[in-house]
Amino acid sequence: MIPAAFDYHRPASLADALSVLDELGWDAKLLAGGQSLIPAMRFRLAEPTAIVDLNGLAELERFEEADGYLHIGALVRHATIADSGLARERYPLLADAAAVIADPLVRNRGTVGGSLIHADPAGDWGSVMLAYRAELAVRRVDGDRIVPIDELFVTTFMTSLEPSELVTSVRIPAAGTGQGGAYEKLERKVGDFATVGVAAQIALAPDGTVGAVGIGLTAVGATNLRAAAAEQELLGSSADEAAIASAAARAAAESNPSADGRGSEEYKRDMVRVLTARALRRSVERARGTV
Ligand SMILES: Cc1cc2nc3c(=O)[nH]c(=O)nc-3n(C[C@H](O)[C@H](O)[C@H](O)COP(=O)(O)OP(=O)(O)OC[C@H]3O[C@@H](n4cnc5c(N)ncnc54)[C@H](O)[C@@H]3O)c2cc1C
Repeated sequence: MIPAAFDYHRPASLADALSVLDELGWDAKLLAGGQSLIPAMRFRLAEPTAIVDLNGLAELERFEEADGYLHIGALVRHATIADSGLARERYPLLADAAAVIADPLVRNRGTVGGSLIHADPAGDWGSVMLAYRAELAVRRVDGDRIVPIDELFVTTFMTSLEPSELVTSVRIPAAGTGQGGAYEKLERKVGDFATVGVAAQIALAPDGTVGAVGIGLTAVGATNLRAAAAEQELLGSSADEAAIASAAARAAAESNPSADGRGSEEYKRDMVRVLTARALRRSVERARGTV
C-alpha cells in the first residue's frame, strides 16, 4: 500500500518545527529516520495529514559530554553510536545495544529519539535508557521540560508527550570510574527484534559493593520495563554469583512476557533470568576493569 496524502514540511529551524506542531497538533507527525513511521503510514496505521521532517536540524545531532552528562541529540543515528569510540570506551551499554539494533540500513537512518517515541516494547533503546536512568529534554513553543525515562512510556506505542512537544535530546549521567554496563539480546536471527533483551548499568561504591544499579527489560511487557525488584536485590551486595543469581530470578519474576512466534511465556521468562545474569556479570567485570 502507499500512504494517504499528506503535506510535507521541512522546517529550517527548531522554532519553525515547533510552530507547525503547535498549529496542527495530532494531525502532524515528526519524521526522524522514518524507519517506524513510514511503514506505519504505508500500512495506513498512521495517517497524519502533515509530516514535519526533522532531518537537516543540525542542533538535534549533538553527541557530546558536557555538564556531567552525555547528551545524545534526538537525531543521533543508531550507527553513529555503534561507530563511536566514545561509546565503546566510556558507555559500553550504549555501544553493545547500538551494534545489535536491526541491520546496517536501519541503523544508518533510525534515531535514538524516534525509537524512544515510537515506544515499541521490543525497541532496544528504551531498556538501555531505563538502565541509565536517562532524561529527555523536551521542547514546545512555550517552554522546555525534562522527562525522566520512568515517566515516558504509557503503554505500547504511546508516550506521555503532548502532540505539540518535540524531543531535542536524551541525557545520561557522564561515565565515571567504577561503572560498567552491558546489553544482552536474544534474537532469532541477526537483525531481528529481540525475543528478550536486558540492559544493565552498575556503579560500584568505594568498598566494592553495588552503589547503584539500573536494569531494563526488552520485549517482555507492554512497554520496556524497569526490573525494580531485581535492582533492589543487587543494591548494596558484593555482586557475587549468588547475588547476581537472585537478582536475575527477581527480574524473571517481574517480567510479563506474552507467548508468540518467538517463544512461550515460560521460555521468555527464563531467558530474562539467563540474560539478566549475563548482563550483570559483564557490567560488574567492566566496572571492576577486569575486561
Ligand atoms: C527492518 C527493521 C528492523 C528493526 N529492528 C529493530 C531492532 O532490532 N531494535 C530496535 O530497537 N529497533 C528496531 N527497528 C526500529 C528502528 O530502530 C527505528 O529506527 C526506530 O523505531 C524509530 O526511529 P526513527 O528515527 O526511524 O523514527 P521515525 O520512524 O521517524 O519516527 C518514529 C516516531 O517517533 C516520532 N518522533 C521522531 N523523532 C521525534 C522527536 N525528536 N520528538 C518527538 N517525536 C519524534 C515520530 O513522529 C514517530 O511517531 C527496526 C526497524 C526496521 C524497519
